Amino acid sequence: MTRRLLRGAARVVTCDPALPGLGVVERAAILVEHGRIAWLGAEQDLPAGLGPVEEHDANGALVTPGLVDAHAHPLFGGDRADEFAQRAAGVSYRELADAGGGIASSVAATRAASDEELCAAMGARLARARAWGTTTMEAKTGYALSVAGELRLLRLLAGATGHGVTLVPTLLGAHALPPDGESRAAYVAACAGPMIDGARGLAVAVDVYCDEGAFTLAEARQILAAARAAGLAVRAHAGQFADLGAAGLVAELGGLSADHLEQVSLADARRMADAGTVCTLLAGACVQLRLPPPPVAMLRAAGCAFALGTDLNPGSSMSESLPLQMWLATTHLGLTVEEAWLGVTRIAARAAGRPEAGVLRIGAPADLVLFAADAPAEIPYHYGANLVRSVWSDGAPGR
Ligand SMILES: [Zn+2]
Repeated sequence: MTRRLLRGAARVVTCDPALPGLGVVERAAILVEHGRIAWLGAEQDLPAGLGPVEEHDANGALVTPGLVDAHAHPLFGGDRADEFAQRAAGVSYRELADAGGGIASSVAATRAASDEELCAAMGARLARARAWGTTTMEAKTGYALSVAGELRLLRLLAGATGHGVTLVPTLLGAHALPPDGESRAAYVAACAGPMIDGARGLAVAVDVYCDEGAFTLAEARQILAAARAAGLAVRAHAGQFADLGAAGLVAELGGLSADHLEQVSLADARRMADAGTVCTLLAGACVQLRLPPPPVAMLRAAGCAFALGTDLNPGSSMSESLPLQMWLATTHLGLTVEEAWLGVTRIAARAAGRPEAGVLRIGAPADLVLFAADAPAEIPYHYGANLVRSVWSDGAPGR
């Protein structure tokens, strides 16, 4: 495999926890071998006699780890732009759902789509995500809502390669109750039983939507405990509308992440901090649904760590852009720029279930973004503009 040397970077933001802050190294060079970082440091300290190496000039770019989307739903049929327009004109979410819209319309479109159609639609979304700097994405099922349908989506996620974005597949059979009238208890039992059995070897984690109007805490416990017993990681959509205690449940089970958290108690925040369960904040959905922001100051004081996700989905957050999430998180949720950066790199990698990503140090995957910027703050500051110049995945440069 080609060895490559990236030199001429103005600064490299390593996000290495062994260094202070964001671990910025000035005028740095990075040597890449077998898709991994083989050397990183100030260019003047480059060891002599590197042997044959393909050189790349960063032209004064700001170099960061490839961005990590800690929460996304990239695989679905159709879109809901018409609903967006109706909601903007004042129609309520409930009125839309009563008219057959909402998640039910995405489930119908997903079930009707062929594998090829679903993969083509997802491929276009992944290309947009990568253009914004994403190289790792946590990717959920959840728009089929049957055992066979959810496992079909999981196989498509697990088999999706060649996009320059590493997907971390999550089973989200418990996204909503199926619209077909199957009994609640029977569907929860299916999620906790045959669905999880079929997910072994395909999914990294199992997720549950535990909230008012979705699954109860007892149902979430039944499904997530089965996932743990099957050796899968766990996470939850928790407290977007009401605090049912899901964040505490995920912490109790040693889970990766509790996500949304507009509503969460101090006791559960402390449990998350103690367990190392990440708070994944979804600023785009929070703003679009006009929800109160999560209690960031309380979560921070409790010792929690923050990740960000696009929550890419057809209903509440149709966006592939993590830099836009960084802007929303710093301006609307109250994160610092440093928290926002760690929230799309090292901490997001932990939340997504791919902890080796999101950091630039020897041995880490050589996933890099070259930005046309001087300082990390410029990325959320210059919102809506794409400052990405090029993206490397597994040591290979792309656009
Ligand atoms: Zn979600």
